[in-house]
Amino acid sequence: MGGHKNQDFAPPTKCMDPPKTRLYKVWKGRNKFLCGGRLIFGPDGASVFLSTFLIGAPALTFCVKMLLRIPKLDFVYGHVVLIVGFVLTFLDLIFLFMTSARNPGIVPRNSRPPDSDSTSTSMTSMEWINSATPELKLPKTKDVFVNGYTVRVKYCDTCMLYRPPRASHCSICNNCVQRFDHHCPWVGQCIGVRNYRTFILFVSTSTILCVYVFTFSLLNLLREPCHIWTAMSRDIVSVILIVYCFISVWFVGGLTVFHLYLICTNQTTYENFRYRYDKRENPYNQGIIKNLKEIFFSKTVPSLVNFREWVIEEDDSFIESVTRKFGGDIIKTNGKIDLELGILGKDGKPLPHVLQNLDYNGIDDSLKKDKGGKVNLDPYFFPTDQEEKFGAGDSTVNDDVTDVSSHRTSTDALRR
Ligand SMILES: [Zn+2]
Ligand SMILES: [Zn+2]
Repeated sequence: MGGHKNQDFAPPTKCMDPPKTRLYKVWKGRNKFLCGGRLIFGPDGASVFLSTFLIGAPALTFCVKMLLRIPKLDFVYGHVVLIVGFVLTFLDLIFLFMTSARNPGIVPRNSRPPDSDSTSTSMTSMEWINSATPELKLPKTKDVFVNGYTVRVKYCDTCMLYRPPRASHCSICNNCVQRFDHHCPWVGQCIGVRNYRTFILFVSTSTILCVYVFTFSLLNLLREPCHIWTAMSRDIVSVILIVYCFISVWFVGGLTVFHLYLICTNQTTYENFRYRYDKRENPYNQGIIKNLKEIFFSKTVPSLVNFREWVIEEDDSFIESVTRKFGGDIIKTNGKIDLELGILGKDGKPLPHVLQNLDYNGIDDSLKKDKGGKVNLDPYFFPTDQEEKFGAGDSTVNDDVTDVSSHRTSTDALRR
């Protein structure tokens, strides 16, 4: 990903080059980007520095203390405690950074609302979206099938799409996020389908680190040959570390236990607070073993947005990318794909990596099976506007056509 260079683009024939820019530069969410769009943070991403300090400062103080005490301690014991402490700190900060700097599973926005007739299936809502376009009539919610259950998904006015099941719109980042868990202010990022694993690793490593520093700081005091009170008055730093870890462990430990419960029952924080599955059945719960496997051993869902994608900037209301096409158009007609390739490059490898390895037929099939009540659908896999198109059969093509026309300015310019 991200390997598209300027020369990847076929120069438009007989007309001026339309202005091109990287998608992250014109992204409508409130994310902050670093390293040319490779690192994606939430708008409060700077809080990662505070978290790094709150973890790193006491942990490194502990390591320095152990280092200074090594001559007084058993050689092996002293070194092992020091090295394990250092490794735990390092891992914790790595998990923090991986959670914070990764796309949590942002659902690409639509540049225009989906066609109303493409939503004609599975509609149950009698409420209609108040759209700026009066001719547009879209229901606010829509029923989709997940694992044999009917799940109601909502229309997102901001992203102009029906949210995939389990997705929610983060008001802080201003994006719809797949398997939205919550927006973590300590990490400064949404926690979603793509960074939940590193998040739980971060939280649990923090807990282990807390317990570790607490235990060995206490042991350091108890090992002093004098009375504990005297040892405490001589070693204020260890006392501070003990108190600090004692307070912190309630927070991170509680969070770890809570998330382990959520993982075992296959819930998100958002679902737990909002819906309460105890009142109705959770369609995602597959039993503890499978739930644990899903979080810890499944492949990370590919990003739906390539923020380094080159996009053609027509005006401030129109931004399109090949990745966005994944969300809407590419799936249906080869002709359309070619059209898009025509815009975005003829180097023989114009599609982003994420788009090439997808078995769209498989998705289609699994959806069909699903209607028969079989467990097959990966509910995070694609934006719902896609689903609705699958569900609506031929309307996919219609939608495709209108989508093309809405981007007519760019394609026309290139055809000329
Ligand atoms: Zn949204
Ligand atoms: Zn967020």
